[in-house]
Amino acid sequence: MRELITKSFLEIFAQEPILAFAPGRINLIGEHTDYQEGFVFPAAVAQGIWFAIQKNKSNSTRIHSLDFNEDFVFDVKSFSPRKGHWANYIMGIVSQFKQAGYEVEGFDMVFGGNIPVGSGLSSSAALSVGVGTAISGLFNFNIPKKSLALYAQKSEQLYEGLNCGIMDPYASAFGKADHALLLDCRTNTHEEIPITLGQYSLLLVNTKVKHKLADSAYNKRRSACEESVEILSQKFPEIKTLRDFSEKDLPKVKSILPRELFSKAKHVILEDLRVHQAGESLRHGELVKFGELMKASHESLSKDYEVSCAELDFLAEESWKKSYVLGSRMMGGGFGGCTINLLETERIPEFKRSVSTSYLQAFNIEPEFIEVKPSDGARIVK
Ligand code: ADP
Ligand code: MG
Repeated sequence: MRELITKSFLEIFAQEPILAFAPGRINLIGEHTDYQEGFVFPAAVAQGIWFAIQKNKSNSTRIHSLDFNEDFVFDVKSFSPRKGHWANYIMGIVSQFKQAGYEVEGFDMVFGGNIPVGSGLSSSAALSVGVGTAISGLFNFNIPKKSLALYAQKSEQLYEGLNCGIMDPYASAFGKADHALLLDCRTNTHEEIPITLGQYSLLLVNTKVKHKLADSAYNKRRSACEESVEILSQKFPEIKTLRDFSEKDLPKVKSILPRELFSKAKHVILEDLRVHQAGESLRHGELVKFGELMKASHESLSKDYEVSCAELDFLAEESWKKSYVLGSRMMGGGFGGCTINLLETERIPEFKRSVSTSYLQAFNIEPEFIEVKPSDGARIVK
């Protein structure tokens, strides 16, 4: 991929580029906790997007997308959002940089990668963080990783109109090989936890569905959490979000909240706890314990938080049945997307055959399998 990007850049723009890379990400555990300032546990993966970039001494920025085989030109001094277009993520970052006082001048860029779009690996964050890394490197802005992640988040919020969290760009920026990031979404700081998988591997199974309910349900769950906080803060004026509660508070929380809100709050409170337990398990190489936490997370997301769907439940349950799978759960916002599975590497072919057959039979869909490995974050390549 790296060679292909360089070659295309030379062919189109006839000068030597500098190269940047940004990866996609997975989330090991900690779902629907970020917007309550809780904890998540992502890792960057090996799949990512490569960028070849060089200054062109003009105000005109020319971009070629290899994957879409499309060109886009814009004036760096004056441009406006193009929602839904891939160039929007690039203009969004340039806009953030300019607002922060960085003088971005015209550049040429070719980019392309191997992250399946819309499968739950956050290709959009890789694109945003990668563009930020490339531009920062090209103009020697030396922008810190955390700022790159925050600009990427802001860019997607303002340009795409998406109410997204910090996790995806943060993981793409800070990823480290064979580590996951225990990220605190209140302070935006993280702890690196080493992941030693030994004879086990992480494998995503893509349901290949995205139910219409996803967006409206996401907003509803967010509001439900906010409503709970409002009610609870009358009794506990010091609390700001559900993150401020722990397991021992559950009986009190239960006595205050209506039943419907309690089950949602309970998920968020216990999921935060599971993230910490998962961190401890992985730090000590206790993969079986980690697998159990994955299952508990899925059950909570499915039964209490109600963001799963028949396809995700089916895939998780199929995995739990297999002795060589240590854990499985839905990954991401829900109502479609992937499950993440921890299983014996040697049995992956057998797993794929078995799951393909049963999923095809149940839903008439051929699932997609994506092997993932905790890898390094965004960087200038040369
Ligand atoms: P994801 O879950 O993968 O982040 P999104 O819908 O948030 O899915 O973002 C996908 C969008 O990001 C694509 O529609 C495209 O505009 C942009 N994008 C991602 N990867 C690439 C790529 N390799 N080339 C061009 N655009 C890309
Ligand atoms: Mg995205």
